[in-house]
Amino acid sequence: MSDCLFCKMVAGVIKPEVVFEDENVLAFRDINPQAPVHVLVIPKRHVATLNDLGGHEMAGQLMLAATTIARQEGLAEDGYRVNINCNKKGGQEVYHLHLHLLGGRQMTWPPG
Ligand code: 5GP
Ligand code: ZN
Repeated sequence: MSDCLFCKMVAGVIKPEVVFEDENVLAFRDINPQAPVHVLVIPKRHVATLNDLGGHEMAGQLMLAATTIARQEGLAEDGYRVNINCNKKGGQEVYHLHLHLLGGRQMTWPPG
């Protein structure tokens, strides 16, 4: 996946501001933050969209990493939002699966 922006981050070709990393997951600050804390959590293995999620393992890894980062960023108690955009109508722009972790301000509902 030489053309994928987030794969380039996993490969270390592009260096984002990493906040968490383990064997399966990389997490870094969004370049255009929509909240005081806006972190993207991605699987190291290229998966284009949520529709391509093969099984429960990767979902669990992403979700658990998000909760770890939420604690690390001091968001756990006050609250935060986890969001995945899937395909065009979901607002997905980068086609490497990623979870948005947003916090540090009051979230509103419904989202835009
Ligand atoms: P999507 O709309 O696909 O769910 O979200 C893509 C996210 O990636 C956007 O929030 C956007 O700001 C972020 N993004 C796009 N390019 C870069 C980049 O080069 N570096 C970082 N850190 N984030 C990026
Ligand atoms: Zn990729």
